[in-house]
Amino acid sequence: MNIQTNIQLAPLTTIQLGGPAQEYISCDTNQDIISALQYAKEKNIPIHVLGGGSNTIFADAGFSGLIIHIQTSGITHEQQGDDFILTTQAGEDWDNVVQYAISHNAAGIECLSGIPGSVGGTPFQNVGAYGQDVSQTIKSVFAINRDTLEQVEFSNSECNFGYRTSRFRAEDKDKYIITAVAFELKINKAREIKYPELASTVGTTIQPGKEGLQQVRNAVLALRKKKSMLIDPQDPNSVSCGSFFTNPIISTEEFVANLTLAQSDIPNFPEKNNCVKLSAGWLIEHSGFSKGMRQGNVGISENHSLALVNRGGTTQELLDFSKHIQTAVQKQFKIQLQLEPIVVL
Ligand SMILES: Cc1cc2nc3c(=O)[nH]c(=O)nc-3n(C[C@H](O)[C@H](O)[C@H](O)COP(=O)(O)OP(=O)(O)OC[C@H]3O[C@@H](n4cnc5c(N)ncnc54)[C@H](O)[C@@H]3O)c2cc1C
Repeated sequence: MNIQTNIQLAPLTTIQLGGPAQEYISCDTNQDIISALQYAKEKNIPIHVLGGGSNTIFADAGFSGLIIHIQTSGITHEQQGDDFILTTQAGEDWDNVVQYAISHNAAGIECLSGIPGSVGGTPFQNVGAYGQDVSQTIKSVFAINRDTLEQVEFSNSECNFGYRTSRFRAEDKDKYIITAVAFELKINKAREIKYPELASTVGTTIQPGKEGLQQVRNAVLALRKKKSMLIDPQDPNSVSCGSFFTNPIISTEEFVANLTLAQSDIPNFPEKNNCVKLSAGWLIEHSGFSKGMRQGNVGISENHSLALVNRGGTTQELLDFSKHIQTAVQKQFKIQLQLEPIVVL
């Protein structure tokens, strides 16, 4: 086992923040993961599981424990009629997996093109964009129980997926390390594009075939680039975690009773259980903030009001700024914004 000490964490994250890890191990196999868990148990030190670091903010002081960096690789598939079962190890780069699916004419994750991070991070928060999320195509999630080291498989329904959440982020947080994910994709099936911004570029129906899927991918990548939602070393607005806040979901009753909101032109979308989802970006922009705004060495992206960016600052500055935004939105609209990234303090 190659345990390293005093490894800087900032370069392992897209927002480039955080001090050193006391101990660090890169895991290329599931056996490495099990050995790392045993090592941490013997030494009685805390662990943190790191994938692509695109939704993680480490403390300025770093992490006093063991970082288990998941870097397992391998993608396989099985085709049965129009069903295409793609199984990928957790450390694979997510966008490579999307490209793999498209190159095999398999539809279901093409709208998720360009999202940074690893496969293991996708079920964690049920990654989604442009009308798709991974809960629509995940068949099963394979994981190791951090305490018992038992290897388990969860069916889609057992993952308890919701908007930007799952059992791995909620009730079973810190209980499992995801080792692989199987997706059930479809070939030769026309696809409906539900997201209006995307449909206005590619149309509402995509015919079966690689070209259609590639066309969706290209359109999504172009939209993401315009919003700095693609990691680009040349683009300082992409030094972020993507959206910093989730879109609030409140009951329809609460929405109607909140006259400041109900009488405004806030974009709102019906959700399950008689709820509505509100645009967090709109709330921020109507609480005194705007794109490109700075506070010290952190700020809001020039191209997306939901993305907070690091412009050479610290985690403390970023968290102070996010608190400032939350307080202003709460004061203006009585809505509590929730952070989307995982903050490891
Ligand atoms: C520019 C940009 C754009 C983005 N756009 C989107 C978007 O459109 N939609 C969206 O949903 N997200 C988006 N994100 C957020 C992020 O890319 C996703 O959440 C991604 O899936 C995180 O994966 P990761 O491997 O980088 O996770 P990390 O940041 O490494 O980890 C995030 C959390 O997942 C846990 N985790 C990671 N891997 C495992 C594993 N194998 N087992 C158990 N737990 C694990 C970690 O412990 C941590 O708690 C964006 C981020 C950026 C920087």
